[in-house]
Amino acid sequence: MPAKEAKPKNIIDSIMYSYSTSANQYEEENRILKETVNRLKEEIGRYRDSPLMVCEVREIFGASAIIRIPNGNQFLVNISNDCDKLKSGDLILVEQKNLTVIRKVPITRRFNVEKFVIVEKPTITWEEIGGLSHQIQEIQEVVELPLKKPELFKKIGITPPKGVLLYGEPGTGKTLLAKAVAASTNSTFIEVVGSELVQKFIGEGAKLVKEIFEFARKKAPSIIFIDELDALAAKRIEVGTSGEREVNRTFMQLLAELDGFKPLGNVKVIGATNRKDILDPAVIRPGRLDRLISIPIPNNEARLDILKIHSKSMNFDEKKVKIELLPSRMEGFSGAEIKAVCTEAGYFAIRNDRTYVTKEDFLKAIDKVKQEEKAEGQDYMGMFG
Ligand code: ATP
Repeated sequence: MPAKEAKPKNIIDSIMYSYSTSANQYEEENRILKETVNRLKEEIGRYRDSPLMVCEVREIFGASAIIRIPNGNQFLVNISNDCDKLKSGDLILVEQKNLTVIRKVPITRRFNVEKFVIVEKPTITWEEIGGLSHQIQEIQEVVELPLKKPELFKKIGITPPKGVLLYGEPGTGKTLLAKAVAASTNSTFIEVVGSELVQKFIGEGAKLVKEIFEFARKKAPSIIFIDELDALAAKRIEVGTSGEREVNRTFMQLLAELDGFKPLGNVKVIGATNRKDILDPAVIRPGRLDRLISIPIPNNEARLDILKIHSKSMNFDEKKVKIELLPSRMEGFSGAEIKAVCTEAGYFAIRNDRTYVTKEDFLKAIDKVKQEEKAEGQDYMGMFG
């Protein structure tokens, strides 16, 4: 048991007693106040600290390194003694004033690639593509055959192209073809949109390209489909602004990746563009996307093929709706527009409380899609005066 504090016996004792208790109290208060002051000082210090900049190591030279700052410029800087061992590619924090490397950021992977690209196992069959039999044959030879029978190419002694470039008007079936070849080879389909790669992930495009290829190798057999390739690989007269330099770096990384993988490996690249005319020739040089496949606007026969595919499960009387007479009214329509005609015809039937589609529904739908196309064309002209 703790010894009981002696009670004051007289007035002097009593004064001494109250003096010592209040002294204890003051000491305690003093201690608490000191702690609070220290905490607040630390907090003020945090507010005063200037932020460190996140950069990337390019090369190490003993106690110095070449680093790349977020706007793309590179500097030779010192590494602080407290910093962990660095290697090129590491993310680091640097002082803003003199760019001294303070410490390494403990992240090896910056992206969860699956968050940035569309990954799927498509189920599209060749029969679902209308009017592109030559193109299907070509893509089967260049992409499907090497994936399915690489030994055939080894025996004959030729190397197939690493990838193909599909070019043509919007909505003509480029994505459809790429998905169909992924389905027929049971490959993982990895879709990347060129414009998103350079706009959304500023400063990260090149790294993301590297990781997409790494991811594709992991998920092999796989097909990397790069839509709107022109956004990434357009000819540049001069690389001036930091934005242009960034696109250029992403493009260079794409070329490096294309050069780096084997033609008979189980990753293939399919690029797609509506603007082949502005593509940098570097991307279609031998050993890269050197097989070019043109995807045209369908002719009358192809339009009928596509119409048959999209109207296959529609409810209409084949004697009354002469489907083969419709394509001549759809001159210049893309596959996507022919599909839109079928959907619109269905809506006209619904609006009229019918569960079957008539010839008039199809004709009205063709007119509607034509009007929409015209309006879009006018908007486009309006934009350019
Ligand atoms: P974009 O250049 O705008 O990306 P794209 O050429 O990749 O267009 P797709 O996305 O393949 O066009 O086509 C859009 C839709 O149009 C397809 O999902 C399909 O329903 C239809 N379509 C286009 N072409 C064909 C075709 N040849 N046969 C059948 N359907 C087609």
